[in-house]
Amino acid sequence: MPITEANLYDQLSEQSKSRILIVDDEEAVRKVFAARLEKHYECVPAANAQEALTLLARQQFALALLDVQMPGLSGIELLRKMIKDFPDVAVIIVSGIGRGQRVIDALRIGAFDYLIKPCDLDVLQLSVERALERRALLRDGKRYKQDLEKRNEELASQKAELERLQAQLVQNEKMVSLGQLAGGVAHELNNPAGFLYSNMESLGEYASGIERLLAIHDRMPLSTELAAEANAVKQELHYERLRAELPSIIADCQEGARRIRDIVMNLRTFSRLDEAEVKKVDIHAGIDASIRLLSQYYNSSHITLRRDYGDLPLVECFAGQLNQVWVNLLTNAAQAIGQGPGQVRIETGLDDGAVAVKISDTGKGIEPQDLKRIFDPFFTTKPTGEGTGLGLSISYGIIESHGGVIKVESTPGKGTTFTTLIPASAQRCKAGQPN
Ligand code: ADP
Repeated sequence: MPITEANLYDQLSEQSKSRILIVDDEEAVRKVFAARLEKHYECVPAANAQEALTLLARQQFALALLDVQMPGLSGIELLRKMIKDFPDVAVIIVSGIGRGQRVIDALRIGAFDYLIKPCDLDVLQLSVERALERRALLRDGKRYKQDLEKRNEELASQKAELERLQAQLVQNEKMVSLGQLAGGVAHELNNPAGFLYSNMESLGEYASGIERLLAIHDRMPLSTELAAEANAVKQELHYERLRAELPSIIADCQEGARRIRDIVMNLRTFSRLDEAEVKKVDIHAGIDASIRLLSQYYNSSHITLRRDYGDLPLVECFAGQLNQVWVNLLTNAAQAIGQGPGQVRIETGLDDGAVAVKISDTGKGIEPQDLKRIFDPFFTTKPTGEGTGLGLSISYGIIESHGGVIKVESTPGKGTTFTTLIPASAQRCKAGQPN
């Protein structure tokens, strides 16, 4: 057993003289017992049970010798009380009555021994020694048990902490490698996505110009020969259908190009390809701006928005990126509520020196098996077109790069709370550098 302050104290007090309480209404008996035992033990006399209880409450005793028949509480009743209130004190009954049943009862209640008066003083001393040995063994056993239980608890909490750290490491590594992958893809796609998007814009304008020209052209009189040639080409091209469908085909392509451009932009942010300036910003202003941006959700009647803003210092950060986090979290909250009705609550304040922003919704919640995956890029439970599965992975990267953490708690059917904690003066790494 390791030496702790508590058990060192126990061992020291154990080594000093054990204290014995001698409870008997006859003074002569008390004196004879004390005379025999006081060479090895400190003896304290008590004339009745009440006096004994008062002494027990005041001092530590290793053992008590109890007479049975005394005025007031009997020795057996005192034994019962002691087993309940002073279980650490060993008890030997010393009685003039040696009826078998009484002896059995006393031993069953918890007395260590039952001696019959007048008893041989050598037998008394031997019984006291053995009772004290047994008590010491019991106490050691109890101490070992407590120590083991304490160590088990420590081990369990160390194991939980290790598991948490391991999960965090895996998550961090995953995020770093996914960030690199996403960064590479975004880098390659950035130019083609850009010209695809801008060319589609131009193509739309050109096509509507040609459309206007064709409308005039169709009304122009043609020679029989040219009309026949034009008709043959028109038939081959399914001209009427082509003209009707061309604007919507171009519009679909434009929409597709816009989505590709947005995804590439998100991937770039996720992998931190875009660096902007660090500024001291008002977090509340950023959240309010994000809410304005999401007016399609937050101006509707089925979502109630509650803002509980605390006092926050200005935070040194990349404002644009943090705003993207608020937009993502607030979009998800609103989409989780769907047609509602529901409530979104934003609470801010300082938590142990960090700026805390808590966004809770009363939406549909997240299934436990999905909770582990929501920060993975491209994980989405939303229909195509509504979700890309990038919002949370981007937010995770942004908060992490500001030296903060993002946490989630959710109950399916009840709602979800995302909490972000960012140091008031966020230290951000340059792109590509590990945190
Ligand atoms: P997306 O919103 O495009 O699906 P996200 O990365 O933002 O991508 O979210 C990933 C998934 O996490 C969502 O599809 C949804 O299943 C879940 N999720 C995120 N926020 C919430 C929320 N507030 N309530 C319920 N589910 C959520």
